[in-house]
Amino acid sequence: MTENLPDNKNNTSPTNFIENIINEDLKVNKNNNKVHTRFPPEPNGYLHIGHAKSICLNFGIAENYHGLCNLRFDDTNPSKEEVEYVESIQEDVKWLGFSWEDRLFYASDYFEKLFLYAVELIKADKAYVDDLSPEEIRQHRGTLTQPGENSPYRDRSREENMDLFQKMRNGEFPDGAKVLRAKIDMTSPNINMRDPILYRIMRAHHHRTGDEWCIYPMYDYAHPISDAIEGITHSICTLEFEDHRPLYNWLIDSLIEKTEDFKFRPQQIEFARLNLTNIVMSKRKLRELVEAGHVKGWDDPRMPTISGLRRRGYTPGAIKDFCERIGVAKSNSTVDIALLEHCIREDLNVNASRVMAVLRPLKVVIENYPVGQVEELEAENNPENPDMGTRKMPFSRVIYIEQDDFMEEAPKKFFRLAPGKEVRLKHAYIIKCEQVIKDEKTGEVIELHCSYDPTTKSGEDTSGKKVKGTLHWVSAEHALEAEVRLYDYLFIEQEAIEDEEKEKTAILNPYSLEKLKSYIEPSLINSIAGQRFQFMRNGYFCVDRDSDQDKLVFNRIVSLKDTWSKIKKA
Ligand code: ATP
Ligand code: MG
Repeated sequence: MTENLPDNKNNTSPTNFIENIINEDLKVNKNNNKVHTRFPPEPNGYLHIGHAKSICLNFGIAENYHGLCNLRFDDTNPSKEEVEYVESIQEDVKWLGFSWEDRLFYASDYFEKLFLYAVELIKADKAYVDDLSPEEIRQHRGTLTQPGENSPYRDRSREENMDLFQKMRNGEFPDGAKVLRAKIDMTSPNINMRDPILYRIMRAHHHRTGDEWCIYPMYDYAHPISDAIEGITHSICTLEFEDHRPLYNWLIDSLIEKTEDFKFRPQQIEFARLNLTNIVMSKRKLRELVEAGHVKGWDDPRMPTISGLRRRGYTPGAIKDFCERIGVAKSNSTVDIALLEHCIREDLNVNASRVMAVLRPLKVVIENYPVGQVEELEAENNPENPDMGTRKMPFSRVIYIEQDDFMEEAPKKFFRLAPGKEVRLKHAYIIKCEQVIKDEKTGEVIELHCSYDPTTKSGEDTSGKKVKGTLHWVSAEHALEAEVRLYDYLFIEQEAIEDEEKEKTAILNPYSLEKLKSYIEPSLINSIAGQRFQFMRNGYFCVDRDSDQDKLVFNRIVSLKDTWSKIKKA
């Protein structure tokens, strides 16, 4: 019995309420001591960071308890589902580092069985064919304070119901003309129990079953049965399904005696969905952004989709760490997106090489440095991780520094470059600003003339000089030109945009993408899409898939400023 106890019991992480339920189940040997979960996406869009929470939870529980987790496509609504989504979902789950092994299922695999179970329900007088229109069904349903009314078709005989349901399947009625409903209780205080619809007529091409079916099961009907068929023990879903749980149990209880197919009585457990600040988190809304052209596809680096985060430069490790930290709870709350950013910074701080890139270049001529001379200066790749070694940085007479590292009239605490002031160039020399060259027409600073002190070479400095500022730079002759893409949040809204009302009023940020022509140190010449770096003082960056031999393209993953630590302290 102890063999299934989770691995994390050896360490200090506290159990969450779902693990508590599972631990209790294991104590009483429920489900033959098995733990079997599933991740059940509907293939009607790309997965987002909220789904990552569910994936980490379901696959994570299976891993911890030496159990299994299935991937099951919940493809019961063909009008919105596509193969493109099926493929992207598999890619995303794999990329996060989880494996369903040979357990890839589709609810549509069970269409025939689901039909036969519906026949069983009819035989047991637990389902009937209703001719009311969708509008009439709504009117009969009642409200939270008023009971519903029985449909005039509720008392059809079993024989008539069987005949009509078979004819529904045969395509003898037009779309929407009839539905199959569970016969439960129109006066139930729980609206989900007021004779919920089990099947609807819908002539839609299904990406797997083609035109074989013209009736499709409802999610609430297909889901518990799919769970039971697959031997799922713990069916974890989000809180909005709490009120559907009695229906889930009613279906299992109604059918479990009638079939050998159901291995266990699966238990539905609800947890709070992830909401993030500055982000919409519904596939429907994300699809709107794609279709309206506000972003360039589902994997636009501004999107909270897993593919967007991947392209932006997020690592699976950072996303899993984030999901671990937010934990699972029973009441909804909103997580600050700064926590997600904190997780990727922590990861890349130890794992990404530091390199120098000048995003908005200002030319600097070092007048006393010999023309044509090039020095290869030694630069460490990551001070947090000495194992990452060193590289050479060419230094020469003309370099670029960042435009905002110079101010003509600098305030006292500006420790960067200003007329007559000295700064250190990282891994190189101390330079002094001697002369400012401006565009005659615009007055804009276009070039600085500086001098360098040869006794101040990094690592060999004998000058005894102390300067406060250290700037990054690149050698103009050697630097690579690159397109650097800086991102801001897609929405100006600070709160989580978790419901349709908020979605309507949420304002898109018109400045969510900025493209710069920048200069990058030459060691990045062979960098390939997906590689991540820290551009010193500018943030963490990832080579975009638009990058090629002719043009390097980088996405900024995050800046270096960690707002999370502040939030945590406040
Ligand atoms: P959306 O509302 O974004 O379309 P969904 O719940 O309709 O999401 P599904 O494909 O049905 O999307 O979701 C698959 C699984 O992921 C479900 O078990 C669902 O509960 C879970 N899930 C979806 N969104 C979140 C979220 N924000 N946080 C945690 N889990 C989520
Ligand atoms: Mg859904």
